[in-house]
Amino acid sequence: MIDLHCHSTVSDGTLSPAEVVRLAHENGCTLLALTDHDHTGGLAEARAEADTIGLRFINGVEISVTWHGRTIHVVGLDFDPENETLQTLLAKVRQGRLKRLEAIAAKLEKKGIAGAFEGALALAANPEMVGRTHLAEFLIQNNHVRNKQQAFAKYLGDGKSCAVPHQWAELADCVNAVNGADGLAVIAHPMRYDLSATAKRRLFEEFKALGGAGIEVHSGNCDKNDRLNYALLAERYGLLAGAGSDFHRLNDFSGGTLGACPELPPNCKPVWEHFRRH
Ligand code: AMP
Ligand code: MN
Ligand code: MN
Ligand code: MN
Repeated sequence: MIDLHCHSTVSDGTLSPAEVVRLAHENGCTLLALTDHDHTGGLAEARAEADTIGLRFINGVEISVTWHGRTIHVVGLDFDPENETLQTLLAKVRQGRLKRLEAIAAKLEKKGIAGAFEGALALAANPEMVGRTHLAEFLIQNNHVRNKQQAFAKYLGDGKSCAVPHQWAELADCVNAVNGADGLAVIAHPMRYDLSATAKRRLFEEFKALGGAGIEVHSGNCDKNDRLNYALLAERYGLLAGAGSDFHRLNDFSGGTLGACPELPPNCKPVWEHFRRH
């Protein structure tokens, strides 16, 4: 039972790192990575809890990348969290979230939605990491939208009415930083990007050429067809297969069950067979 992608209160999840580990363990997980957005601050607490209950724990982080003007997420796994180049990159990627929140809140205000800046900040355990998930939660709590999907479809999604483009890390810098910290870089939830088949092939080719290790063949609540499709693409581009729930909170239908990913197609080369540090 494996899960190599999930979030805690260190970024935009609702459970603390220790709570994430305990719930994954209760759900039968035997190999877990915590992958908060652009932040490794939860890893020590998660590892301590995992050691206590006897769960194998892998260092993780989900890095925000801008690739040809699009946001792509890359999961770093099994790296040295003390690595300076990696931490410098993460610190730089974290910058500007408050400014971006201000700009999004100003756009929402023009649509007649007041208080989004303070509202979203109040929902972020870590103000430095305030983001669109917190804004979505604010919109839901104040009855502006029914659910997270609607918040992104109407206001927050890339290109939607209140979206504010943001410059994240370069793909090359991200892969180099993860590799330099002795880790493995994996493209997160490739089935979720709104890219043409050609653009996706270009992304995989470029990622592989830069030293990327794999792609997630399973993510969240994706179906068997997605797993078969991305297993074939991984095979074609010589990439390993990752898998993760992308768990953020309980009772979220877009995330999978924390700690328990379905079995991958047989042609996959699992990324976890290449972990060296833990
Ligand atoms: P941010 O890093 O602030 O841009 O927020 C990105 C986060 O918003 C992602 O990690 C997801 O948790 C969430 N998210 C992005 N797009 C969607 C979507 N279409 N539906 C639901 N959640 C989304
Ligand atoms: Mn998130
Ligand atoms: Mn993501
Ligand atoms: Mn994620």
